[in-house]
Amino acid sequence: MDAKCPQCERVATLDNDMKHVKCSHCNFETDYENYLEIMKDKAINMASDYVPKRSGL
Ligand SMILES: [Zn+2]
Repeated sequence: MDAKCPQCERVATLDNDMKHVKCSHCNFETDYENYLEIMKDKAINMASDYVPKRSGL
């Protein structure tokens, strides 16, 4: 199963048991839970780019 590599943004491989993500392009390797955390952080960072910083918060 294909997954997006959070490090080089090329195609990484997700094991059939959905427990391990590995990228053959940049040798990125992690377990799936950590992969989801990384992608979640990336999504938050991406979203924050579209939100103007508000003062007084
Ligand atoms: Zn990679």
